[in-house]
Parts: sequence; C-alpha cells; structure tokens
Amino acid sequence: MITVDEALDRIFTRIPTPLPESVPLGRAHRRVLLKPLLAKHTQPPFDASAMDGYAVRAAEIVPGKPVFLAGTSQAGSRFTGMMQSGECVRIFTGAPLPIGADAVIMQEQATARGNQVSFDKAPKPGQSIRRKGNDFTEGKELLQPGLSLTPAMLNLAASANYANLEVARRPKLAVLATGDELVPPGTDLGPDQIVASNSYGLIPLLAPYADKIIDLGIVRDDKKELEKSILGALDYGVEVLLTSGGASVGERDFVQDVLRDLGVELDFWKILMRPGKPLMFGTRGKTLVFGLPGNPTSAFVTAAVLVRPALRLMTGHTDPFFPFMGVPLAADLPANGERRHFVRGKLNRNEIGFLEVVPIAETDSNHSTSLAEADALIIQPENNPGTPAGEIVEIIPLNFLA
Ligand code: AMP
Ligand code: MG
Repeated sequence: MITVDEALDRIFTRIPTPLPESVPLGRAHRRVLLKPLLAKHTQPPFDASAMDGYAVRAAEIVPGKPVFLAGTSQAGSRFTGMMQSGECVRIFTGAPLPIGADAVIMQEQATARGNQVSFDKAPKPGQSIRRKGNDFTEGKELLQPGLSLTPAMLNLAASANYANLEVARRPKLAVLATGDELVPPGTDLGPDQIVASNSYGLIPLLAPYADKIIDLGIVRDDKKELEKSILGALDYGVEVLLTSGGASVGERDFVQDVLRDLGVELDFWKILMRPGKPLMFGTRGKTLVFGLPGNPTSAFVTAAVLVRPALRLMTGHTDPFFPFMGVPLAADLPANGERRHFVRGKLNRNEIGFLEVVPIAETDSNHSTSLAEADALIIQPENNPGTPAGEIVEIIPLNFLA
C-alpha cells in the first residue's frame, strides 16, 4: 500500500510538458498561459479626461471669470489645435486632453453662455485627468503563466490588444466502463444488471481539462473486446485513458492484462485512501492510463483526488491542486485510521452567515446518494485522532471552482 502523496508524486513525474496552442480570446476562459502576457501598448495611450466637463489651464481659472470655448475633444476624436491662454475645451470622459490643458473641471461646476464658460471654483492642476500609462505601460507583465484565466483576466488581455492567446493544449481523453453486468442508463433492467453510471460523473468532472472526451461506452469483461476498444483509443491518439471496473485481480478482471499486452507500463497500487483504494496507473509513450475502481463513489473520488491534479499539470496549471481552502468544520470528525479519509462534506452558512463544512455522516463507499449531496471532500489526514467541530479543515471542491 502507498500513501496518497506517494501516488501523486509517481503520477506527477510522468506528466508530459504542456505544449502551447493559440486560441481566440473568446475561447480562452479557464485556459492557462504558458508564458507571461506582456502589454502590447500603453494604457491609457494618452492623458484622458475622467469626466464630462472642460479642459482648462488650472492656474488661469478664477471663479466666475469666463474663458473662451475653443473647441471640443471627444472620445475617438480629439481637439487637434493647441489650447491657448484664456481658453478652455469642451471634453468628454475618455477623450484626449488637449495640448496646453492641465486640468478638467466637471460640467456640473461650469456655466456656459455661448462661447464663454465660467467655473464655480478654481481647479487643482491634474484634476480629473487619467494619466497616460496609469493602467499599464507597454511591455509590462500583465498576467502570470500557470493560472486558470478568469473573465477579468480576459478583459485585461483584450485591453492589452490580444485577439488570440497562447495557452496550454488540453489532452484528448477517453473513458471506458467495463463489466458484464453493466447496461446504459434508461435500460429496462434485467435481473443481475447494474446501470453503468461512472462515466457520467467522470466526464463532466474532468471536462474543463480536456480538449475532447471520447466515451467508449460499456465493454464486456472480455479480453478481446477490451483490447479492441483500448487499442482503438490509443491508435486514435488519446492522451489520457480512464477505465472503470475490472481493475482488480478477480477471474474476470482483465483490464490489467490487456493494458500490459498493449504495451502499457503499469503499476497497480493499493492506495491508503478512503474511499478509493485500488488504482492502476501506467504510461504508454506520453499517454497516461488510469484504471479506476468500478465502485461509483470510489471511481469518482479517485478521479477527483488523483486524476484531476494530473490533468491540471498537463494543462499548464502551476498548482496541481486548488488554492488551499480551509473551512471550519461544523461537526466533529471521529478518529481516522492509516488511510487518508476524503469525507463527503456539504458547505453551509452558519448562524452568523460564515461558511462552514458539514461532514456527511454516511461514509460507506457504496453510498452514491451522499456523494451527490457533497459540495466538497474534507481531507482528513492519515491517523488523525479525530477533529473537533470549529477546527479549520482543508477541502477539495467538487461542485465549484473546478
Ligand atoms: P469491479 O471493479 O469491476 O469489480 O466493480 C466493482 C463494483 O462497481 C461492482 O459492483 C460493479 O457492478 C460496479 N461498477 C463497475 N463499473 C461500474 C460503472 N461504470 N457504473 C456503475 N457501477 C459500476
Ligand atoms: Mg467488474
């Protein structure tokens, strides 16, 4: 048996280096830059007005004493002349400040009569001006690599004049379920049949990290059929293959044999985790293969704990995990044995409105109802003597942030 950390380490050493691809900005949400993004220009590109009002020479303005209105500067169409002494220029928000002006007075403090404008009070030099380069200057590092691009980051990339971004490629995945008892959802169930559910959770869980996920459906517990399906996926160029079921060493568990026969360099681990435990991991060239347990809760938790971090690294994220999320525990956790326990947890607001995580009492790994209730997995460390309510525990998000 190996620890979760050891399993992660061994997986991480096999992650291929992410390669770049160019995507249009509109499709870059949640993608990851591999290099810093540098500003292509200076923003704002000129001194601009922060108000609708009048551009003036601050030192000349005396309250109530009119100056001559020499013209207009609008956003997109500047005042082309030079503002002379004794003049002002009508100006609108975002418009370039005319040469010769050094302040803007908002229109609410101005009175215009024909081409004479007077002001209620004298301005401070520089007032209501957005300086050139106030936001960023050409060449400045605007975005760091390794982070999932957020809507606000895309906003910034657009304002820095990028139509496309170089982001990490995402791998092609394939998911396969195996078991003679399995039938697709919606089937009239015969005796002894079980609905194949695993792929329906795994696919959306991992989709943010995939270029494409091919659902290979249900394959019988048959060596030939498994071989055909898996070889097809490998030949197609799948970069991550996930199987669920048939992974143990029972008489009808063929996944391990088949993967070996197809040249996958394979490890079979019993991992000190709960739920989960058995996992097959291997590589064939740059392709990663995960043989997940058949049990639906175990398959899902194993994918969240071990496969998702691997995919995050493959897709350029610097951190295989989400940022540390510590949340107060809403109820005591009983003592834990030598296996790291991923306790299903539901997020809640306590009486004063703060976030807390309620451990779901049901920890049976055959209980998929409680997994569906969970927003997160609470990480209870190995040999934890029990954690009292109120203590901060680390969680792995399931239904948010992913
Ligand atoms: P196995 O790993 O093949 O021994 O399967 C362990 C348990 O998980 C058995 O009860 C299977 O019926 C069940 N199981 C296997 N694959 C799936 C699947 N794709 N969806 C739902 N249950 C599954
Ligand atoms: Mg089976």
